[in-house]
Amino acid sequence: MQNTFQPLSRVVVLSGGMGGAKFLQGLKHLLPDSRITVVANTCDDMWVHGLRVCPDLDTVMYTLGDGIDRERGWGRTDETWSTKEDLAAYGAGLEWFGLGDRDIATHLVRTTMLRAGATLTEVTARLCDRWQPGVELLPMTDDEVETHVVIDDGDGRRTIHFQEYWVRLRAELPALELIFRGLESSEPTPRVLQAIAEADLVLLPPSNPVVSVGTILGVPGLRDAIRATTAPVVGLSPIVGGTHVRGMAEQMLASIGVGVSAEAVGLHYGARSAGGVLDGWLVDTVDAAGVAELEAAGIRAIAVPLMMTDVEATAAMARAAIDLVR
Ligand code: GDP
Ligand code: CA
Repeated sequence: MQNTFQPLSRVVVLSGGMGGAKFLQGLKHLLPDSRITVVANTCDDMWVHGLRVCPDLDTVMYTLGDGIDRERGWGRTDETWSTKEDLAAYGAGLEWFGLGDRDIATHLVRTTMLRAGATLTEVTARLCDRWQPGVELLPMTDDEVETHVVIDDGDGRRTIHFQEYWVRLRAELPALELIFRGLESSEPTPRVLQAIAEADLVLLPPSNPVVSVGTILGVPGLRDAIRATTAPVVGLSPIVGGTHVRGMAEQMLASIGVGVSAEAVGLHYGARSAGGVLDGWLVDTVDAAGVAELEAAGIRAIAVPLMMTDVEATAAMARAAIDLVR
């Protein structure tokens, strides 16, 4: 099976946190000899008690580096929470944020390096020296970008960080508006642009199409790079049977006016031949009825099982994505 994929030496994946990380575990299993470059969303990043926290970068790094708490799906194994308890005793705020003691070490190294003038790309490489995720992990930009959400919790409209919307409010209120602070003036890094230009294949994993892949594509110039690469671009639907499986893609799609269906997300990304970014799009077998509409829009589409139940099932999804455009 591996020989079939030997020509795929350079694969680029545009990833969010948990969905992207899970997909990457399957992709690594399928392509043990390929160079996989992960361009990760950094719009979830946040300053927490003076520390720069990068949830999606860390979820990918810890998951692939075997340091993730598998039950929670985020944060470190064997985590303790003494610092969090003492911060609460001070009434320091942000008590809803899951800041574990071991995790803090990562944020301390990152923040110290950033303060000394290192780029986030350099910091991430340094952190990955320890974790050895087996992929090249890159932030989508070295600039500071953050997603904020406008909500109305009864006391009127107010704007909160995306992390507060997701972690504290569990995405239970409608996201009235999404604000991507700094995104419009951000720049993709030279290494990200080079990896996309030199790729044999670009994959959009079943990550959140709005606040993960959407923000990555929102870095000016990055979307153009995806449109210009000679590599085929294939995505896998994060929506299965009209639901987001886990996460908050439903709320995010609603806030940008895109339907919560596999074909609506594919059509939202659009065919590369028609100004979009996709050559191919995978939907789950339960969404097979949408294939014809996608094909009519110029996107090669196929229906295969898309539930990431284990690493083998996920590897099969990655293989189907490659087969679709081969
Ligand atoms: P986050 O940054 O942790 O929210 O993770 P991502 O953006 O990478 O991925 C989150 C999305 O993955 C969710 O919104 C779901 O729609 C999707 N997802 C999670 N599990 C599955 C699965 O088993 N199959 C598919 N197709 N999508 C999934
Ligand atoms: Ca995320």
